Amino acid sequence: MRVLKFGGTSIGSENQIKKIVKFINRNNHKIIVLSAFSGVTNLLSEFILQSSKGNWIISEQILNLIHERHTNIVSNLFSSKNFKKIALNKINCSIKFISKYLDKKIIVSVEKEILAQGELLSAMIIYLYMLEQEIDVAFLPALKFMKINKHREPDYNYIKSKLTREIEKHKGCNYFLTNGFICKNHNNKTDNLGRGASDYTATIIGNVLNATEIIIWTDIDGLHNNDPRYVEKTKAICNLSYEEASELAYFGAKILHPASITPAQNLNIPIIIKNTMEPDAPGTIISDYTTNNGLKAIAAKDGITTIKVKSGRMMHAYGFLRKIFEVFEKYHTSVDMLTTSEISVAMTIDNNIHLDQIIKELSGLGETQVEKDQCIICIVGDYSKNQNISIQNVIDCLCNIPIKMISFGASKINMSFVIDSENKIEALNLLNKYILSNGPCLANNEQDILSN
Ligand code: ASP
Repeated sequence: MRVLKFGGTSIGSENQIKKIVKFINRNNHKIIVLSAFSGVTNLLSEFILQSSKGNWIISEQILNLIHERHTNIVSNLFSSKNFKKIALNKINCSIKFISKYLDKKIIVSVEKEILAQGELLSAMIIYLYMLEQEIDVAFLPALKFMKINKHREPDYNYIKSKLTREIEKHKGCNYFLTNGFICKNHNNKTDNLGRGASDYTATIIGNVLNATEIIIWTDIDGLHNNDPRYVEKTKAICNLSYEEASELAYFGAKILHPASITPAQNLNIPIIIKNTMEPDAPGTIISDYTTNNGLKAIAAKDGITTIKVKSGRMMHAYGFLRKIFEVFEKYHTSVDMLTTSEISVAMTIDNNIHLDQIIKELSGLGETQVEKDQCIICIVGDYSKNQNISIQNVIDCLCNIPIKMISFGASKINMSFVIDSENKIEALNLLNKYILSNGPCLANNEQDILSN
């Protein structure tokens, strides 16, 4: 059994849908996981925000956009009046449900139900289209089997037994279509696995069904060796190990949801990232195999805040770090990068919701400094086998860009450092030129001379 996941842009228009349905129909036994049509979840969350603020004129405009987006696709997709009518009906029901909250502050459980409408509609429309094309397909509603526990972790036993039962109901079917992203929580209320998490749905399903492979169809030909938004001529990486992919997925390579690697890794199921626009390109294979030939990729993550706590009480003391981390635990904020000295600790977070409370409590432990608008850059590769990547080379090639924190050693395959976000593009390009492309790494003043 193979699991295929199509992201929002891969199903973002009637032509794209026709293309992927033809493509799905080439061979048998697949579970197909679908995102919402591109941009729809963003519109739904903007609707929630504007409604909560009482901006009903704006929320009505957003709702009209959501309506229009779906009806346009449906009008051009179906040739049979009947199927078109059923699909338009489903859209109207969703819109009617959402419109109840046009100018109301929305409670969290309703918020989740509104956000779910994107995946509920896209999967239903594509299911109806496949039926119209007389394809042997069954629909498996994610809300019947996908569940998270009270720690917001997938409940694998529940998912396995419910999903297997759902599949058995349609024995002999060639294709099974389901919604990405959405799930039920431990209170049996509609919830979701987090933004961008349809990938996660696909790998959880891959895990419980012990799939042969999980193919993530997206709009780029795999994970790239640098950020193509800021660096020219980046290349897709053919092979990545699960560890390498996990480091890159967290640090900004937004192609794969970071949580989605573990369910596949636990059963050694390959994840293949492919481009719907260029289906013959090899893409990136993530598995336990790695080519081990030095540097793999550079990635950056913005929106980082660094917090430094300095205290003489730390010297030769035990339990000090625990006290610091208890503060982060209390405010459900995870720390990503960490460096320590004898009397200070520096940490990064990517979520400032509870920053003020965290700083207030940390100030009781020592002198605290905060810097916002920071960026983590990570360089992933096999450091033991490539002389060109060393802390020395990175510092040399970054020229005069100040490095605020540096972390190396916890992972054999990753070096990370923090810089001001405003220096990100320059840093990515310098690293691309001197580290990734093996250009000669020049001393600072030589670079200055060349750039003048
Ligand atoms: N539609 C959801 C989002 O935009 C989930 C996904 O596309 O993966 O976050």
